[in-house]
Amino acid sequence: MTDLADSPAVRRLADWDHERLEGLADEYDTPLYVMDLDRVKENYTRFSEAFPNAEVMYAAKAHTGKAVLEAVLEAGADIECAAWGELERSIDAGADPNTLQYTAVNPPDHDLNYATDLAAEAPGLTITIGATDTLDRLAERGYDGRVAIRINPGIGTGHHEKVATGADAKFGIPYERVPEVADRVREEFELVGLHAHAGSGVLTEGLEEHCEAIERVGEMARRVGDAELEFVDVGGGYGVPYREDEEPLDLEKTSNMVRDAVGDLEATLKLEPGRYVVADAGLILSEVNTIKEAPDTTVVGIDASLATLIRPAMFGSYHPMYNVSAPERDSHPVTVGGPVCTSADVFAHDRPVANPERGDILAIGNAGSYGYELASQFHSQPRPAEVALEGGEARVVRRRESLEDVTRVEQ
Ligand SMILES: *Cc1c(COP(=O)(O)O)cnc(C)c1O
Repeated sequence: MTDLADSPAVRRLADWDHERLEGLADEYDTPLYVMDLDRVKENYTRFSEAFPNAEVMYAAKAHTGKAVLEAVLEAGADIECAAWGELERSIDAGADPNTLQYTAVNPPDHDLNYATDLAAEAPGLTITIGATDTLDRLAERGYDGRVAIRINPGIGTGHHEKVATGADAKFGIPYERVPEVADRVREEFELVGLHAHAGSGVLTEGLEEHCEAIERVGEMARRVGDAELEFVDVGGGYGVPYREDEEPLDLEKTSNMVRDAVGDLEATLKLEPGRYVVADAGLILSEVNTIKEAPDTTVVGIDASLATLIRPAMFGSYHPMYNVSAPERDSHPVTVGGPVCTSADVFAHDRPVANPERGDILAIGNAGSYGYELASQFHSQPRPAEVALEGGEARVVRRRESLEDVTRVEQ
């Protein structure tokens, strides 16, 4: 597997085969999601080989398409799920339910019913709780199986009060209450691990703060008795370079820092990256339909919108853009927007792109994570098709929706 682990740590839009991408746009129409499953496997393998003796799961919510779940399973990953649908889709893709981990965040009844029914058949399933209410509700359902406690590690020092009132209070048991909750879990259930998912989009600069949180998880594991725990799970949150000039995460450094931070443990270290595994394996192909000279900028209209990829509108996220039809043209700053009637439907402001012309295909990079998962049918737009690349072959893994798919639930 070394050849996979030695794969480049980052794949930029310029590294893709542009002729191939143009061919895909031509054959399958636009907007089109493209997912390179070989790259998914490479990313997983590189990450997991950087953490020897740890168990690296894949967090399904980053991309829950069946082809991606099959790819990560093939690469050897177990799957972390945060909703009942993710559990079912993982099983559908071939996961052994005994290996699944279900992270319950304010779980609706339906989710808990599903998980406890599943655990009755598959006692290896682990349920991660972030509120004692969830323990009550599991007990009401007769559940006495495997439980992990999600810790709210807070950030930095003196964070205890801050976290209690901060937005992060949504997640996990407040730090100082963990020992008493651990006692309760040991009485009524099987306590198998501690869990924390502290960061999001952590790159090398954010590592130190990330590791402060991990240090506290390690400390808590020793406080509640790490020898009696199966695992200590420090979550995901490992970032990818969205901007062309950003450096990828230094995995070796990350691995050393995480190990140091968590400290000596008898329990197995677990991680659960989502974005890192799938982000740069996916892109969107979109056709230019309008070029408009405005007083301050050139507006480039494309057929992808915030319904296709909501991250720029929702989080202000930067996604690289590349003119795969004519990368050799001179570039000048343009504003790229979609067909949705809101000013939020803009992918880039004043971004240098090789002079787009009508009919060109633009690629929008790093769309493999939280891309299709967050796509909507806003503006009565059927969701795009998704093509998977694997072993040199391309195949449609999600057909393009029709308007009938949009209206199917109306009655
Ligand atoms: C979302 C999530 C992850 C994955 O986060 P990434 O930033 O995609 O790595 C891992 N664990 C849990 C519990 C999550 O909710």
